[in-house]
Amino acid sequence: MVNGEVIIRKRGADRIRHGHLWVYRSDIVEAKDAEPGGIVKVCDQRGATIGKAFYSSQSQIALRFLARGDAKIDEEFFRKRFEAADQLRERLGVDPRLSRRIHSEGDLLPGIIVDRYGDRIVAQSLIQSTDRLQPLITRIISDRYHPQSILFRNDSRVRELEGLELKQEVVGDPLPETIIVDEDGLQVAIPLAAGQKTGAYLDQRDNRRAAKRYARGAALDAFSYGGAFALHLSSVCDSVEAVDISAPAVELVRANAERNNLKNITAIEANVFDFLRQRHSENARYDTIVLDPPAFAKNKDSLEGAMRGYKEINNRAMRLLRPHGILVTCSCSHHVNEGIFAEMLADAANDAGCWVRVIERRVQSADHPILLTVPETLYLKCFILEIVY
Ligand code: SAH
Repeated sequence: MVNGEVIIRKRGADRIRHGHLWVYRSDIVEAKDAEPGGIVKVCDQRGATIGKAFYSSQSQIALRFLARGDAKIDEEFFRKRFEAADQLRERLGVDPRLSRRIHSEGDLLPGIIVDRYGDRIVAQSLIQSTDRLQPLITRIISDRYHPQSILFRNDSRVRELEGLELKQEVVGDPLPETIIVDEDGLQVAIPLAAGQKTGAYLDQRDNRRAAKRYARGAALDAFSYGGAFALHLSSVCDSVEAVDISAPAVELVRANAERNNLKNITAIEANVFDFLRQRHSENARYDTIVLDPPAFAKNKDSLEGAMRGYKEINNRAMRLLRPHGILVTCSCSHHVNEGIFAEMLADAANDAGCWVRVIERRVQSADHPILLTVPETLYLKCFILEIVY
């Protein structure tokens, strides 16, 4: 499977020796016989083998490593990586029927996402090499999970950085528009082909469970998508308002609330920024607020504006909460690390004139593994805070 050899500068080689998986294009000295999306042997300028990697002819991330040293890369290699990912999840007690089975770099399988929704698998190939390997990936998924269908949602915008077209493909049985899955006893609709991400935000599952431990009273689920947080909070709160700007998302919330016979959830179509301002002018008060916005910082250049956005919603939420109120606040931008996020929250609290206590500092669910030496794999931060007064 390995074709071609890529020589990299010391800076790139050091990055790999320090445990990262990426080498940028600027650290490439020479790419000999490397095909777009091929698997290459990578050497330093002295000729020492660094490892084996996926090669991209387009992305600034030119190499994504599969292994250090001289590992043999064949179908068996990939089968073992899938097996290791399943074994990890078993050790961690992850729900086998509703979870992310492969989380790209976090499972040492760059560019591959595999989510399991019961009998259906939604997969994503995000880079040139995984497109070339799609038949192999399909075989491994079929053998491991025997799904009724596999939907390749190769329509993520990140593929544009690789020069790849955006498309969807189904392998196996045709898919219904939505399927219903059981998330912790709740019946949740997943729009597989038309939904956000691969249909749901599996990465927030552990945080939804955590939020439920502290939630009470009048609750607000801001940036609700299908209302997954709202559904979890419903049984422990008096009322839950779920707010999203997207009409299909608001419809999903209504349908999900109805399906589970939860009468205290109100679905509201609004821009959260306007909604919080309006509730403030009405002197509304909440006991629990969840803020789960989309990634405001898509890249380093948009960081400053993004931080203003995060601060505004957090400041407003803190002012809307009663003393001892709970704020579950998240950021999924990997450009915003935990330190920057915590600083922003402190600024927001100071501007709101309240002390804030940290109850829990959390990350994405365990089926989205984090590699200590690849900071980009820790992308979701979630703080559970309590307003002191
Ligand atoms: N909390 C959800 C995931 C939220 S994803 C869950 O656990 O499943 C972020 C959501 O924010 C998306 O549904 C998107 O439609 C919505 N959104 C983006 N910008 C918004 C805005 N300004 N106001 C309200 N909703 C917004």
